[in-house]
Amino acid sequence: MAPPSPYLAGAPIQLQPLSFTWLDGHAIELAALRLDQVDPELSGNKWFKLLHHLEAAAAAGAEGLISLGGPHSNHLHALAAAGRRFGLRTVGLLRGHPQDTPTVQDLLDCGMALHWLGYGGYRERYQPEFWAPWQARYPGFHCVPEGGGGLLGALGCAELVAELQQPLEAFGWGDYHGCWLAAGTGTTLAGLVLGEAGRHPVYGALAGPGEHAVAATVATLLQQAGRDDTGYRLFDASRRGFGRFDPELVRFMRDAEREGGMPLEPVYTAKALMALREQVRAGFFAPGSRLVFVHTGGLQGLRGANLDAVLQAEPGPGAAETGREKRPAASRRQG
Ligand SMILES: *Cc1c(COP(=O)(O)O)cnc(C)c1O
Repeated sequence: MAPPSPYLAGAPIQLQPLSFTWLDGHAIELAALRLDQVDPELSGNKWFKLLHHLEAAAAAGAEGLISLGGPHSNHLHALAAAGRRFGLRTVGLLRGHPQDTPTVQDLLDCGMALHWLGYGGYRERYQPEFWAPWQARYPGFHCVPEGGGGLLGALGCAELVAELQQPLEAFGWGDYHGCWLAAGTGTTLAGLVLGEAGRHPVYGALAGPGEHAVAATVATLLQQAGRDDTGYRLFDASRRGFGRFDPELVRFMRDAEREGGMPLEPVYTAKALMALREQVRAGFFAPGSRLVFVHTGGLQGLRGANLDAVLQAEPGPGAAETGREKRPAASRRQG
């Protein structure tokens, strides 16, 4: 295994025991790997996805980093904070039209230069000519794919498996039977599969529809890393769609936060935990299983959401919006 990234802060990640009433009677032990606590500014899976991008930028002598995302993006938030901390300029290409969100405020505070692309302009991001004008405008900047994806992103998340060993020991678990986490693009999941190398299965709870796209992304990343598929499984956790919240989800999240003693957010982590409850109830895990719930962070993105409005909304398809702007379905992603 590669040596740990020099950008890793060195503070061990906490593994926290979780007890929920819905675990009672199933003889399943659950602990959360608190990536949300890794660092006050650089938190969650987005930080691990950036590790090797930072190394690549340093190796290339890049003056800065350029990437894209939405106005609540956890990825741009981590990127902007990393740029400030490690002395790299950062440029963010944003989806939609200028708006003021707590995330955007933080990006500006970190000194990130923002360019709003509109929705149409943002959809162009997969076109081969998309990057050329930005590379001309910011010569030598290292381009980071949306969400910190790609093989470099996955390899950063592979380090999580090694990071897990120390807290596991402190926790008194000799071994565990699998990791459960939220999946957006599947990059983080692919990294865990690479890090596990078949030792434990990895379970991904899909935060949005599109199991095929996620499976294809994971397959591509494993292939690029020169590895076979060594054991993962996807579960639907998307409920009404990516970034959509319903009253049952919000109530579940609030109960889980209270019982579990850890904060969650509704886009990824609460949906993932709710899908885990479903599988526990369905008897998917054998009694005696010890599971690691990877808390992928994302709490900063919650600041823009009005969850009380969700609870007050009439249940029914499409009734519970997030309190955020309606976005075209194809680009409704947090990145
Ligand atoms: C981005 C994100 C994910 C999804 O990560 P992928 O690597 O795209 O699957 C999960 N949880 C949180 C909190 C995120 O911000």
